[in-house]
Amino acid sequence: MARMTLSGIKKSFKSVDVLHGIDLQISDREFVVFVGPSGCGKSTLLRLIAGLDTISSGEFHLDDRRMNDVAPSRRGIAMVFQSYALYPHMDVYENMAFGARLMGLEKDEVEKRIDEASKMLRLDPLLKRKPRELSGGQRQRVAIGRALVRKPKVLLLDEPLSNLDAALRSDVRLEIARLHREIGGTTIYVTHDQVEAMTLADRIVVMNNGKVEQFGSPRELYERPANTFVATFIGSPRMSLLNVERDSNNLGLAGSGSVSVSRLPQSDERDLVIGVRPDAMTVSTDESTEGFKGSVVYTEYLGENTYVYVRLGDGTLVGIRSSASVDLPPDTPVVITVASEEIHYFSRATRER
Ligand code: ADP
Repeated sequence: MARMTLSGIKKSFKSVDVLHGIDLQISDREFVVFVGPSGCGKSTLLRLIAGLDTISSGEFHLDDRRMNDVAPSRRGIAMVFQSYALYPHMDVYENMAFGARLMGLEKDEVEKRIDEASKMLRLDPLLKRKPRELSGGQRQRVAIGRALVRKPKVLLLDEPLSNLDAALRSDVRLEIARLHREIGGTTIYVTHDQVEAMTLADRIVVMNNGKVEQFGSPRELYERPANTFVATFIGSPRMSLLNVERDSNNLGLAGSGSVSVSRLPQSDERDLVIGVRPDAMTVSTDESTEGFKGSVVYTEYLGENTYVYVRLGDGTLVGIRSSASVDLPPDTPVVITVASEEIHYFSRATRER
């Protein structure tokens, strides 16, 4: 079992508060991804879980055991670093054996575990090589292998794909997903890349400024983002955010007119932010169409479709997915229609700058 409970976790370095109170419950065998912009505290949180830094306040439990003061080597948690942190003078076998020996395992057991891990990671032909004789992807696999021979309950991976080239990334990503299934433990994976997060995770923790913005499945985050930060962080190309004023069933946008909508938010606030994804809008050159008026800034032809970027009356730039055949030169006046049922409503007061 590897169920994790973090309650009110805070971390400060000297006088700088980096984590402001993290509450998370991670289930046994879950693949959880921490995602967020650089500097938001993802690695710090991972290091606290691994025991490489101390928790300033709050509680961390693994199953029913309080882990705050447990030494890293006794947690049953293994971490794979972004830099791999392999010992350059040791061969692959020795790199994998080192941590297992520190755990006090018998020689035969170490051998057995290395045999298993190296087969699982297809490292068996490379056991006598030194790290410098390996490709980036192979080094990555050794770093993972070294973690696996410890048979951890929890595997932590810190930006494991960041040193690999684009072609290798998707291969290694698949490999990591497979490993997670085969090992049957709990995995926590850190990345700043929302596409990686969406494709790998059972559940995603979206972090920003040392806080959790939302914790949910990829589908929940995409379909029901809790706030404008999550709304614009998840999904590519980004969701557009528009400041609108509501007057009964009408949403007015400064300088662009108004649209009537069939579905409204539950609150009766007047100042709202609406979020609309690129495929929930259409662009028309027929100026009698009901919608927000604007003019084309540029278009991006992507083969299957074309993205049309339109500047609205209040200066907001929105991206709309259109058919590939669309041909709209810059400055063409257009009208944007919005699918009512696909509008996400947010309070203006909580809009991220
Ligand atoms: P992320 O992994 O999301 O990029 P980090 O957890 O590495 O973010 O860092 C979060 C913040 O904590 C950053 O502002 C970083 O400068 C600060 N930080 C991280 N480690 C230390 C440290 N050892 N001493 C001081 N500040 C640190």
